[in-house]
Amino acid sequence: MRHDLWSVATESGVKRRRGWRGRPTPHYLLAPVRGELPPLFDANYGAGTLLNKVTTETHFAPGQTLLIDADDTLWENNIYFEHAIAAFISYLDHKEYTREEVRERLNAVERENVRLHGYGLTSFRRALVTCFESLTTGPISPAKHERIMSFAQSIADQEIELLEGVAETLPVLASRHKLILMTKGNQVEQLDKLARSGVREHFTGVEVPREKDPGAYREVCAKYELGPGTTWMIGNSPKSDINPALACGLHAVFIHHPHTWVLEHEVLDAAPAGQQLLEVETFGGLLEWF
Ligand SMILES: [Mg+2]
Repeated sequence: MRHDLWSVATESGVKRRRGWRGRPTPHYLLAPVRGELPPLFDANYGAGTLLNKVTTETHFAPGQTLLIDADDTLWENNIYFEHAIAAFISYLDHKEYTREEVRERLNAVERENVRLHGYGLTSFRRALVTCFESLTTGPISPAKHERIMSFAQSIADQEIELLEGVAETLPVLASRHKLILMTKGNQVEQLDKLARSGVREHFTGVEVPREKDPGAYREVCAKYELGPGTTWMIGNSPKSDINPALACGLHAVFIHHPHTWVLEHEVLDAAPAGQQLLEVETFGGLLEWF
């Protein structure tokens, strides 16, 4: 199958298709002059520029290995935290600090908790309590503690909600390529979500490292004997999915999620020579490349 496509590069070498999935062509793909373009992504992700129009074979050969992120790539995750945090801030109802200032405090506590205790709901519960204690006077009563715990519990009680196109796309990808789930965090929580998602059968392997840093990618490549030239990391986080994978010589596909956790924001790195960095709008867009 052949397509006309606009090859678009950012300073990071991001490539994305034109007018895919029947949607209007994003305005930034039509702007003709480098330096006068609106940002390709949010300001956090860098700016894009149009390169040239090309016609090319669009699918990579079968037999690629696709390392696929889970939270906010396969299923919704961060929006539940955002809802819980909004409820927490309303409950705190601080008389001096604005909602934004309380959120800043919580972000700082979460950063430290992740460093000490890893990702996951246990860390989040601790962060809420610590933040509450640091912004109020006196000990937290059992009733208040229970209420704060209920905000985190609302996340644990969520059904798994697959993102658009995931259920239809995974079996097609799995028929052509090797899929390995690679999600960081608390292993028990992540494996439980995967079991409840109904998509486990499409993956030949599942990896849950504590952090998705270059060392974790190198370990997975060694374990599965993956060649960097045919291995791709696919996910929504510049910090955990794209940049460390590129640093290890892998290709990467960025799927922007509008509610990516602020602690995952980072400027996309440039794709080194010989490596690919693609962007697709939704998970189903992967079928245009793979
Ligand atoms: Mg993610």
